[in-house]
Amino acid sequence: MNLLRKRIVMLSVVIGGVILAGILIFLAGRSELTIALFAAIGGVVSLGGLIWGILSIRCPHCGGFLPLRDWFLEYCPRCGENLEHPRESTLPPR
Ligand SMILES: [Zn+2]
Repeated sequence: MNLLRKRIVMLSVVIGGVILAGILIFLAGRSELTIALFAAIGGVVSLGGLIWGILSIRCPHCGGFLPLRDWFLEYCPRCGENLEHPRESTLPPR
C-alpha cells in the first residue's frame, strides 16, 4: 500500500468513527448513557485509525515518521529520499 492510500484509509477510519458515533446516537435515542457509550465507541474507532496511521505512515527508507497532514509529500524530511519511488522497487527481482 502506498503512502497516499494509507492516508486515505486513515482519514476514512477517523471520519468513519465520528459518523458511526453520530449514527448510533441518532438511532438509539439521546439518553446520557447512550451518548457517552456511543461517543466512546466512535472515539475508539477514530483513535485506532489515527494510531494506525501514525504507525504505518513512515518513510520506506529510514523508517522515520512522516507528518500526517502533508498529503503530497515527495521527499522524506528526515533522510531526503524520494517517498514515491522506494529504492527497493528499482532493484531487479531476486
Ligand atoms: Zn526517510
